[in-house]
Parts: sequence; C-alpha cells; structure tokens
Amino acid sequence: MLQVKNIETLYGLVMALRGVSLELAEHKITAILGSNGAGKSTLCKTVMGMLEDQPDKGTIWLDDTRIDKKDTEDIVNLGLAYVPEGREVFEELTVLENLQMGGYTRKASQTREDLKRVYELFPRLKERQKQLAGHLSGGEQQMLAIGRALMMHPRIMLLDEPSLGLSPLLVKEIFSTIKRVNAEDGTTILLVEQNAAMALKSCDYGYVMENGRFVLAGTPEELMADEDVREFYLGIR
Ligand code: ATP
Repeated sequence: MLQVKNIETLYGLVMALRGVSLELAEHKITAILGSNGAGKSTLCKTVMGMLEDQPDKGTIWLDDTRIDKKDTEDIVNLGLAYVPEGREVFEELTVLENLQMGGYTRKASQTREDLKRVYELFPRLKERQKQLAGHLSGGEQQMLAIGRALMMHPRIMLLDEPSLGLSPLLVKEIFSTIKRVNAEDGTTILLVEQNAAMALKSCDYGYVMENGRFVLAGTPEELMADEDVREFYLGIR
C-alpha cells in the first residue's frame, strides 16, 4: 500500500512538511486532523506529484513502486485519485461531462459501469446530469468532485476537507457515502479534515498534524481519549 517515508516539502525556503511518515492500511480509512496551515493539503499534493521537485527529501512508495519522482498523470494511472479542497469542478461543463472527464483513462464499457455506480451513490448527480456544474450548490459540487474521482475507479482516494463549507446534514451525507465507497468497493481512503469529530467517527486510524509534523497517531478511541485532542480539536474537556 501507500507508504510515505520521512518526507520534507519546501515552498521556496519555507519548509511546509518537516519529516512526515505515514502508512495507509489497505481497504481502511485513515484520517489526518490538523488546523489551518498545518500542512495537510501540502501532504496530499506532494503524494500526488503536484508540487514541482518535491518532496525535497524522503520517499513515497505504492507497494514496491517508488512514486515520489513520478508525474501526477502516472500517479493517477497507478490508482490514486485526489479530491482537492474547494472542489474545483469544471463550471462551464455539465455534470455528466465533468464525470466523463474523470474517467478519461478508462474503457467505454468501464465508464458506463463507473457512471452507474456514481449515480447510485449520488442520485442527485443523476437528476442534475445535464446541468452546468457551475450552477450546482456547494454540496452538490462536492459530490461531483468525489464522483469525478470515483470515475477513475481508484485504489486509493485522497479527500482534502470534503466537509468544508457544508451544512451539518450534507456533511453527514458525504461522510456516509465515503464510508460506503470504502466498505462496498474496498477503496482505501485518506481523509484530511479540520472537522475532527466527523473524521474520528469515520476513520480506522488517525494522525494529528501540527506545523508540518505528525504529533500524534492512534485509533479513533485513542485519539478521542487524548486530552489535547479533546481540548483543541473536539472542543470538549
Ligand atoms: P488548510 O486547511 O488551511 O488548507 P493545510 O493544513 O492544508 O491548511 P497547507 O495548505 O498544506 O496547510 O499549508 C502548509 C503551510 O505551507 C502553510 O504555512 C502555508 O502558508 C504554506 N503554503 C501552502 N501553499 C503554499 C505556496 N503555494 N507557497 C508558499 N507557501 C505555501
């Protein structure tokens, strides 16, 4: 599975990741909690090969293949899909066109199956398939962003703050769909979240990131029992 070994990522002279190691368990949901600017998105982008010449140090492996020097396209073709923070759907294209773009590497027959699955998971996208993505609500755009990633039939899906800006009801719906994809399709999930309560309810294992480093890791039960996690991330004492 995916193994990140002691990576350092720089933005110019600023070190955003300071020796991060992480291992994803196959078919499980792993969460990364952390406040604004901790380095969570940087970790996702580094794994996806989206930051030029980064990581500066350390290695990233998918099974026996070293991927930290590969292009994003190759990393996607190896089965990793990324749902970025802020969704980034193609606003001028319809829902269906957005989904078809997600599946561009798949065969036509596979795309038909993938589309059926996405519509089963998100019936609302089917209802709105001819609508422009730019006209969707925030929650629907988040569904579309996840749906588009699922069209690649990924082995591993990286989700960057899927709950951002959504109502509590929609957050619940999105998280329950993520859990369904994990349980029914066996997709391994890396979930990056500021919403610690929801993330800890959904994950099998979690890490806490501060200032570009993991400061804590454990099962959700262990993390929920930690005083700092309770005080700073869950707001309970
Ligand atoms: P958020 O939840 O607010 O997105 P995050 O944990 O995802 O936070 P990152 O976006 O990874 O944090 O940012 C980590 C650090 O790197 C921050 O200090 C941020 O200011 C800095 N940073 C992020 N992107 C860039 C960039 N393109 N150039 C320079 N510094 C950056």
